[in-house]
Amino acid sequence: MSRHLPKKRFGQNFLSNEIIIHQIINVIHPGPQDHLIEIGPGLGAITLPLLPCVAKLDAIELDRDIIPLLSSKTMTLGNIEIHQQDALKLELQQFTSKAASLRIVGNLPYNISTPLLFHLFEQKQWIMDMHFMLQKEVGLRLSAHPGSKQYGRLSVMAQYHCQIEALLEVPPHAFTPAPKVDSLFIRLQPIQPSLLAHNIVKLDEVVKTAFSQRRKTLHNALKKIISREQLISLDIDPNKRAEELTVDNFVKISNIF
Ligand code: SAH
Repeated sequence: MSRHLPKKRFGQNFLSNEIIIHQIINVIHPGPQDHLIEIGPGLGAITLPLLPCVAKLDAIELDRDIIPLLSSKTMTLGNIEIHQQDALKLELQQFTSKAASLRIVGNLPYNISTPLLFHLFEQKQWIMDMHFMLQKEVGLRLSAHPGSKQYGRLSVMAQYHCQIEALLEVPPHAFTPAPKVDSLFIRLQPIQPSLLAHNIVKLDEVVKTAFSQRRKTLHNALKKIISREQLISLDIDPNKRAEELTVDNFVKISNIF
């Protein structure tokens, strides 16, 4: 048994339920050609079962103390390289020169999950797919469809880049120590948006403004930036609310600027 006291500041909640771990491996469905990047491998809860199934696994771990433990556990199991690195500074080009070649996985430290996702969206040309454990509430917002309560800025901005599916709900007792919140395991697959945004920053601004007053009609919420007539000319009903608009609708609006 390795001795390692979980560190709160690194968001260390180690997966410890074998059934859940098995389900996670199943939905990732690793194959012999796969090149995996694992974010936050920790003591190897999912690294150990994944490693023998894939061609290469690059593990990105910030906590220096964990690396020798992980290294001794995994050495003989497959082709692994462990990088002591902050995932928020990850440059995927360091691992591949082939488009859509990397499969990214991780039981993420929940405090960095949203910034990390957006950091990865910027490099999505290298990514085949991503599988992440997240705080349930964040996972629900990411995968929410128009019209639902959770649909908001995070849903629109993430779904501009990826198709997102909620796969498994995971209770706190599947982890050691148990986190205070429920978790959700999700899949993200990079997509070519059906309508390209001329400027992502502008898109984000429009989405943020529209949802900052989610109870108001779109016309009212966006009054300062677009007129009722302009909305109608884009084929968007000005009496709708932000939560009823599709990603394409928001892109259309942002593209007039
Ligand atoms: N995958 C393991 C550990 C999950 S806990 C399991 O399921 O049991 C989250 C892991 O991410 C910890 O090992 C923590 O040290 C690591 N981590 C935290 N912040 C990180 C960062 N910025 N970059 C890379 N790894 C990080």
